Amino acid sequence: MYRFDLHSHSSCSDGTLTPTELVKRAIGLNLAALALTDHDSLNGISEGFTATELSLNSEKKFNFISGVEISTIWNGLEIHMVGLNFSRHPLLDELLQQQAQKRIDRAKQIAHKLEVYGFQNVLAGTQKYAKGDITRAHFAQFLVEDCGVTSIDKAFKKFLSKGKKAYVTPNWVSLAEAVLVINSIGGISVLAHPLEYDLGYQKLDGLISYFKQVGGDAIEVARSNLSTKQQQKLRDFSHKYDLLQSVGSDFHRPSSWHNLGKNLNIIELDKPITNHPNWDLNKLW
Ligand code: AMP
Ligand code: MN
Ligand code: MN
Ligand code: MN
Repeated sequence: MYRFDLHSHSSCSDGTLTPTELVKRAIGLNLAALALTDHDSLNGISEGFTATELSLNSEKKFNFISGVEISTIWNGLEIHMVGLNFSRHPLLDELLQQQAQKRIDRAKQIAHKLEVYGFQNVLAGTQKYAKGDITRAHFAQFLVEDCGVTSIDKAFKKFLSKGKKAYVTPNWVSLAEAVLVINSIGGISVLAHPLEYDLGYQKLDGLISYFKQVGGDAIEVARSNLSTKQQQKLRDFSHKYDLLQSVGSDFHRPSSWHNLGKNLNIIELDKPITNHPNWDLNKLW
């Protein structure tokens, strides 16, 4: 699975590049395939396919892959599930409409908490940074650019992370239901960035085991920030639970330590997601 990146964000959620800019960047980096996986949103997918058609010349082979990163709940924790390589379907549209409404309701509650804390005009101030669906990353940007908080990291640590002053417990779809929807529309369900939940290996084992039980297809074993050892550990989990292996940078914005495709070819994949029967680069959107 050479030079694939199956997890990335555009300005339709909390990334900074448009889908067109992302596709051009991926082609410029000689990636063979890129999946756009915005948070709970498919709004960038059509543009990604169009940009791919317009950018390709006869020598370059590049595939754009439909995707979405769904925010879910498992055992009271926020777990992200990436769905890949599906065609548009009313079942997924309906789920994402519900998620979008939950995002709006949560944003109002976060804004209220920040206003009680003393900041002003929070919802409108944050919305001006969100070109697509509103995320906590946009609240962080508002706090830094308009309220004098010194960094995005501080904005999360002080206000937006779980248990902090402006955290609102979300009521996202359950992990099992999100898997069911992605599988039933012919997509591939992937547990996103398993090491980002700070679970420790024992609890993580429980999560991955559960994910397999409810029909999950694959786990991400490579992400730009992971060491070889961490990637090997995740590959071990894929063996233990007979899951396929996906790779994704989780790219949000260009910086000196983030790029599409970065660090995704460190370990050899022996059960790549491309082995899935639903993997099909000619699917129509
Ligand atoms: P949401 O899906 O609205 O809860 O927003 C979560 C998004 O905020 C994640 O996808 C990340 O892009 C970003 N995020 C979460 N935690 C942090 C953090 N500690 N520092 C920077 N960005 C973060
Ligand atoms: Mn994000
Ligand atoms: Mn995520
Ligand atoms: Mn992501």
